[in-house]
Amino acid sequence: MHFSSDIKLSDKAIAVQNKMNALREKMFQKDKSLNIGNYYRWRDTLLNSELYDILYHMPKPAIHHAHLTACATIDFLIYLTRFDSVYYSEQENNFYCSGKGCTKDGYIKVNTLRQYWKDSTEFDSWLAKKLELRPAEDCQEDHKVWQSFQYKFMLSAQLYSYKPFFEKIVYKVCRDFLREGVTVVEFKHIFGTLFDDDHKPVSLQEEIQILFDTQKVIQQRFPLFKMKIIVCGLKIVGRDFVQNQIELLLQADKLTNMVIGFDLVCEEDYNPGTDHFLDQIYDLKLRIGDKFAVFMHAGESYQRTNTELYDAILLGTKRIGHGFALSMHPNLIEIVKEKKICIECCPVSNKILCCVNDLRLHPVRSLLARGVPVSINPDDHGFFQSNGVTLDYLYAYLEWGLDLSDLKKLCLNSLEYSTITEAEKVEMRKFFDWRWRRFLSYVRGKY
Ligand SMILES: [Zn+2]
Repeated sequence: MHFSSDIKLSDKAIAVQNKMNALREKMFQKDKSLNIGNYYRWRDTLLNSELYDILYHMPKPAIHHAHLTACATIDFLIYLTRFDSVYYSEQENNFYCSGKGCTKDGYIKVNTLRQYWKDSTEFDSWLAKKLELRPAEDCQEDHKVWQSFQYKFMLSAQLYSYKPFFEKIVYKVCRDFLREGVTVVEFKHIFGTLFDDDHKPVSLQEEIQILFDTQKVIQQRFPLFKMKIIVCGLKIVGRDFVQNQIELLLQADKLTNMVIGFDLVCEEDYNPGTDHFLDQIYDLKLRIGDKFAVFMHAGESYQRTNTELYDAILLGTKRIGHGFALSMHPNLIEIVKEKKICIECCPVSNKILCCVNDLRLHPVRSLLARGVPVSINPDDHGFFQSNGVTLDYLYAYLEWGLDLSDLKKLCLNSLEYSTITEAEKVEMRKFFDWRWRRFLSYVRGKY
């Protein structure tokens, strides 16, 4: 009944598994408190570990849950601030981007500010601290972390939305994912926020062109690479904003096949629930017909009163973002299994946003044991300084007592529950098998 019982490891794979298990044992022997407590206490140890290197080279066919406006590493955002088109106001604690100068009161070119500091690296680390999500060492209160999290989106909005930077970010993020073995990236994205040098809005057509061109350039070297977009409404901003995203989705659907569906985001339990937008989503369903698909964030909460999972399932969600609360609903577990709804689990995000402070106790472990399909995802890894999805896999491997067949099953789930076509899946399975063998050879050769 084990969730990966259909995976049969080759002798070479068993040798790699033994090697990995021994490395895990060594890590825990070295420090029995590994991973207990604050995320940043362990981040560097994990990123520099041999197991991180091994999992970085493991092919991970698809990512289901990554927010495009939270994917760039802090280092890359700092690199962007070195362009002369970036200004900063200490008073407003915000950036302003334009290649045509800035007359706004209190805004100074970031490069000028950098010169005021004795050491430019000190300035960059000061800036990095502002951008990264780093809750206080002893903070275990999720709502408090979320408040500071929302501020990070506001602070970095100009960097993400300035058209020349957006182009660079999309390309960089996709290339970084490819380097760690990801071939299909399904981004959660908010349309219509881009602006140009005159701070005029960039048209939807241009925005889609950027995404399409990035995909095309990457496909020249990596033909199987695919980028998909799930349009996101922000529950915190309200119905008008959500309606605007729905209209943009409908327009985008006429321009590209990259758009695959709709989602609603924001901190649950402190914002209007999905039911507040039901009529709008049903209207979208009527207008788009069979192509309609939702990939709802739901159950990113441990509150018993949270009903988001019910609404997500009733809306016919293809996958569930987080689904953290699912373990509390036995009937829903059976429905999720029957309807083959995949849980987009995001371990690092759940830890840093205090859904669960100790990943050994993550409820997805019991869901896996009950046969619920699960995939591993990075959520907002840019702000977490986790450099992609590899750290999420590493946490899962270390904290959930997984073995290599479990990891392979999670990788294959990312492929099977992605939205690529059946014909593309056939190709991807062949590609995955080839890369898996290469991965085994890499580990056997190096470790
Ligand atoms: Zn998310």
